[in-house]
Amino acid sequence: MKYCPHCGAEIADDVRFCPTCGKETVVVVADTNPQFDPQDVADNKMLAMLGYLTMGVLPMLGARNSAYAMHHTNQALWIFIGSLLCGLVCIVPILGWIVAGVGGIFLFVCEIIGIVRALNGSGKYLPFVKGLPVIIK
Ligand SMILES: [Zn+2]
Repeated sequence: MKYCPHCGAEIADDVRFCPTCGKETVVVVADTNPQFDPQDVADNKMLAMLGYLTMGVLPMLGARNSAYAMHHTNQALWIFIGSLLCGLVCIVPILGWIVAGVGGIFLFVCEIIGIVRALNGSGKYLPFVKGLPVIIK
């Protein structure tokens, strides 16, 4: 059972339109990705992008006060932690190698996505970073 977001009537899970008020019952999930000051983005997107290539070192040195750069630095650090974990599971023969291989490819793709988003001024979370603790604010 779920409830109609418009009138609160109890409705079956598979019903798309509320039988009581007739409105659509699909709830649009609010965008929870952080928003950043356009000036901050414009000033710091190069450093934000370089964070992915330097494990966050350059933005930490050059844009420590930029919320935008630190957002991307946080993601870059999680990619780095992920790659350390991939290195660690390599200890386990075969299964560990497979996990590390798949994980490594996934992290590489995430890094590319992060770089593109950093340059485009997007603060959208990488698929695996959302929900993880913020390492650096
Ligand atoms: Zn309703």
